[in-house]
Amino acid sequence: MSPADFVNSWYQKRITKRNLLGQILRKGRRFILGTFRKDYIRKSVSESRLGACARCGNCCKLIYDCPFLGFDHHRIPYCRVYGNLRPANCHVYPFDAIDSEVNGCGYRFKTRKDH
Ligand code: SF4
Repeated sequence: MSPADFVNSWYQKRITKRNLLGQILRKGRRFILGTFRKDYIRKSVSESRLGACARCGNCCKLIYDCPFLGFDHHRIPYCRVYGNLRPANCHVYPFDAIDSEVNGCGYRFKTRKDH
């Protein structure tokens, strides 16, 4: 096995794990794809994402609580920098099944049953 194959195998085993390392790897993946592979993100969202945001705010608490996460007087979460200042990662969460890591998120991704 080449070093590249070893690293790829290590990465593929951990990217879907629901632990801190998996969260860190997905955050990095989200940043890299959101910055350099916007074409992939657009295609994945338009072709495979179903549902709508339920405004639970839990994607704003992955690894750490986002400092821009606010709560209105009904305790509904909202983004204090919604709009142009909102980071690219947040605009598109979740963009594919690997990226989706919040239980109960209003979005889901097509499976064979949906085709
Ligand atoms: S986890 Fe899903 S439903 Fe909850 S705020 Fe984020 S995108 Fe919306």
